[in-house]
Parts: sequence; structure tokens; C-alpha cells
Amino acid sequence: LRVEPFDYEARPVRVVFGPGRITEVPAEADRLGLHRIMVIADSRAPGAAVLLEALGHRISLRWHEIAQHVPIELAERAVEAAAANDVDGLISLGGGSATGLAKAIALDTGLPILAVPTTYAGSELTPVYGMTGAHRKRTGTDERVRPAVVVYDPELTFGLPPEVTGPSAFNAMAHCFAALWSPRRDPLTSALAVDAVRSATESLPVLMGDPSNVAARSGLQYAAFLAGTALGRTGTGLQHKICHELGGRLGLSHADTHAVVLPHIVALNAPAGADWAPRLHPFLGPDPAVGLWELARGSGLPTDLASLGASSRTLREVAEEVAGTPNPVPVDTPALEAVLRRAMNGEAPR
Ligand code: NAD
Repeated sequence: LRVEPFDYEARPVRVVFGPGRITEVPAEADRLGLHRIMVIADSRAPGAAVLLEALGHRISLRWHEIAQHVPIELAERAVEAAAANDVDGLISLGGGSATGLAKAIALDTGLPILAVPTTYAGSELTPVYGMTGAHRKRTGTDERVRPAVVVYDPELTFGLPPEVTGPSAFNAMAHCFAALWSPRRDPLTSALAVDAVRSATESLPVLMGDPSNVAARSGLQYAAFLAGTALGRTGTGLQHKICHELGGRLGLSHADTHAVVLPHIVALNAPAGADWAPRLHPFLGPDPAVGLWELARGSGLPTDLASLGASSRTLREVAEEVAGTPNPVPVDTPALEAVLRRAMNGEAPR
């Protein structure tokens, strides 16, 4: 057993976790001193009505317009509305798209965010933001967008459809791998990532047959919490860049893209995996890339980019765009294109 030298730096965030705890959001808002709140609620996620009623007089503005990858035009309108209503804080309820819109507003205004996540995207624990426009892309890292408080209530995820649950779980696992092989990893981020993979791989198969299983829903949200915490400290890499580029070009769901691409990038990095792969063998078997791919197939997830709408031309463009991204196993454009082609055709990772 050998402990490598490391730097460790924690950021303050208050996390409240447990079934039924959405009812504690008003007390958490009071703790933050919020009186004029903008509530950004995804109307597909349950809990919005309960939340709005519980917050009562604290609400200054309700916002239900939400879109994946946060269109810049939408963010600009939301910022204007927040200013016009003299808002003093933001509460988001929904997946990464709702959290992302709150982050876009916080970036311009410095308003504090209280996030209530209803998927496993993990954005609520990172200082990373992203917005997209036809000709403009705005992404980056800024501590102003990191939520101050996160309330996880697994009951809000009971109605998450299987086609969102599985890919979203893979989004969380993509965070784990990004953390495990990041140059900024430390012993805690690695421990969090390994336990997140354990909890996600145990919970996901249960949910495919029993979508409202409280223990498995809690287990998957716990995995998202650990994975997001690890990612919030280490940052992303090649896997996320590929998904960002594919998603931006083809309008694909962020989580679906992660689910298809992740096993192939894990296979690519396996030769440099001596310090993380053995820790995952108990949950993913002797070859973690194949274990992930089989978990995706067994859970009915998409396993090929072609069915998501990718073409050979898109793959080449994406490979050219991301080939220089730092990665444990460096890849040039042709090698990356070959990896993406396997993902496009639904081949086993190797
Ligand atoms: P999403 O928020 O768009 O949600 C996916 C779908 O599920 C939507 O149709 C939504 O309405 C629905 N939904 C959400 N919660 C539900 C619930 N409880 N029950 C039923 N339906 C529900 O997608 P996502 O995968 O959560 O987030 C993706 C976005 O988050 C992308 O834009 C991605 O770039 C971003 N993201 C950012 C970070 C970061 O650190 N900045 C990390 C992960 C993801």
C-alpha cells in the first residue's frame, strides 16, 4: 500500500440528504437569509407544487422555461427577469438543465443558489457552467455558480423514466472515472468515486425492475452526490469534452451520450489504470470497460452513437476538436476517431 503525495482543498457546501426532505427547503432558504427568491422549477419533476406552496411569501418570481445545454438567449432573459424582480436568491428544482440555468443567472448576478436535484447529473456540486448559442459557446469554471446548499430528496426521483434513469446514472459514473484518472485527484476524491461506482452499480439494476424502490433510488442519488463532489474538486477531461462536442453538434441528450461513450474511454485508459481499475473489479468485474458496457446493455440503455444520430462526418469533426485534450493515454485524431467509430457501431469496448 502506497500513499502518493497530494494537495487537498475542500469548498463549503451544505448538503441535506434523505427521503421527504424537500419540506426542509424553506428552513434552508431562511438560513441563507433569502426573502425574494426566484424558483426555477422543471415542471416534469415532481415536487414543484409542494415547494412553491411551502416557500409561500418568500417567492418573488417563478420560472418554468428550461432547456438542455442552457441556450444563451434563455439565460439572458432569465437574468433580466431576476433583476426586474429584485431577486435575492435562486432555488432550482430539476435535473442538470434547471441547475444549469440557475448557474447561468448566478454567473452574471452573484446570487446564491439552493439546488434541489431530481436526476443524477451532479451539476449541483460543481463550479462548472455551460451555455450554448448558434454561434457562441460560453463554458467555464467560476465559484459564483457553485450552489451554497443542496437538498437531495430521493422521493423526487421515483417518477424518473427508465430512459432518463439509466443514462443519468452513467453520467454520474462518468464523473467517477474523470475523478479517478484526473491529475488533480486526491485520496478522498478517489475514495468517493469508488464508492459511487459501487452504489450506482448496485442500485441501477434494481431500478430497472422496480423504479420506485426507495433504497435503490437513495443509492443512486447517493452515488450522484459522491460523484458530483469528486468531480467538483477534480474537474472533467476527454470523456466530458467528447460528450459536450457531440451534444452541442447533434442536440443529443448529455446523459445518453455519456452512457454510450464511457465504456470506450474507460477501455482507452485501461492501460494507465493500475491504481483505479483493481478497486472497481468487485463491482464491474475484471475488465471495468466491458463491465460498464454490459451494465448499459443489461439496463436497456443506448450503446451506439448511430442510433442517437451521429454520422461519420460528425465523428471526424469531434475527433479533430478534442484530440489534444489531456488524457492518461494520449490520443491523436485517427486513434480517437477509431474509438468513436466503435462507439458509433455499438461494438464492445477494447
Ligand atoms: P435534464 O435536466 O434536461 O433532465 C432530463 C429530462 O428528465 C428532462 O426532460 C427533464 O424534464 C426530466 N426530468 C428531470 N427530473 C425528473 C424527474 N424527477 N421525474 C421525471 N422527469 C424528470 O438532464 P440532465 O441529464 O439532468 O442534465 C443535463 C444537463 O446538465 C446538460 O446540459 C449538461 O451539460 C449539464 N451538466 C452540467 C454539469 C456541470 O457540472 N456543470 C454536470 C452534469 C451535467
